[in-house]
Amino acid sequence: MWVVAEKEIAGLVTPDAAFDAVEAVFASMASGDAYNFPVVREAIGYEDALYGFKGGFDKAALNLGLKAGGYWPNNQKHGLINHQSTVFLFDPDTGRVAAAVGGNLLTALRTAAASAVSIKHLAPKGAKVLGMIGAGHQSAFQMKAAARVANFEKVLGWNPHPEMLGRLADTAAELGLPFEAVERDRLGAESDVIISITSAFEPLLLDGHVTGPTHIAAMGTDTKGKQELDSALVARARLFTDEVAQSVSIGEFQHVTAKGLVSEDDVTPIGRVITGDHEGRGSAEITIFDGTGVGLQDLAVAGAVVELAKQQGKAVEVEI
Ligand code: NAD
Repeated sequence: MWVVAEKEIAGLVTPDAAFDAVEAVFASMASGDAYNFPVVREAIGYEDALYGFKGGFDKAALNLGLKAGGYWPNNQKHGLINHQSTVFLFDPDTGRVAAAVGGNLLTALRTAAASAVSIKHLAPKGAKVLGMIGAGHQSAFQMKAAARVANFEKVLGWNPHPEMLGRLADTAAELGLPFEAVERDRLGAESDVIISITSAFEPLLLDGHVTGPTHIAAMGTDTKGKQELDSALVARARLFTDEVAQSVSIGEFQHVTAKGLVSEDDVTPIGRVITGDHEGRGSAEITIFDGTGVGLQDLAVAGAVVELAKQQGKAVEVEI
């Protein structure tokens, strides 16, 4: 099998390549060529960690495998980021393990790519103001990927822990965009696109905060019980997701479906918009993309990385 170390990933995969891989796999999911396996995600009762597996099979790209790992909220004391994961790929012809790939940077890139895909296909035309809710590790990747698909002129930011807002200011400065820390009502009123990427278990963005044509990429909720958006806000929006089954079980839309405010049929897989089978925003005032994070996203970017790493002599072959 081939091993591609975490430290090699940055030199192998670009945000553009991650965007293309994720957009293509969402389209394959909509066409029925690729499917995700049920997610396992457990609070293991140790270090407050959430650990699990996300897997799937893409018959078109012949990517089979899983990502194992999760979220360790206290990792700062070890000098590590809170997300830790590894992608394992298997040979679909034989079932033999084919590769192990460091999954930390890949997760950030594929997650940022997913919200960027949603912004490309669903943002109001001429979007100028990007609102960011969340200032953790993922937030910088999210802002950078969003800036590649729309001509933002300004970034507004809010975070439940204001001491973290420096990350958003620094990232905006890197992108050459003015940044302002604001309260949520201003963020919701002035932003054309809002990305939420927090670990919240209570709604942070409320119905009354959001006015005017807006696209919201809700990226933080990937576990039962988590929530970033007010149910009333979700209930009045046009809804999209990466995968409906995940969205209504562990994603942002778990709450509105449990309350009976929205049915599964009201949620459209974004792949249908990408393939031209659904109009997307249409005349909707608010669109929401619930990015729950699917295993196929991980396999798509990892599959591309393994090929590049082999070509560039950055993959190590080991016998197992
Ligand atoms: P991080 O630990 O670096 O940052 C956490 C963020 O959430 C910060 O903005 C922090 O202020 C906020 N936060 C922490 N605890 C909170 C609470 N109790 N209530 C409200 N806000 C809180 O994490 P990160 O790596 O930036 O990841 C952010 C979230 O995104 C995580 O919850 C993670 O599970 C999720 N995530 C989702 C996907 C996906 O595909 N959908 C992929 C990666 C990460």
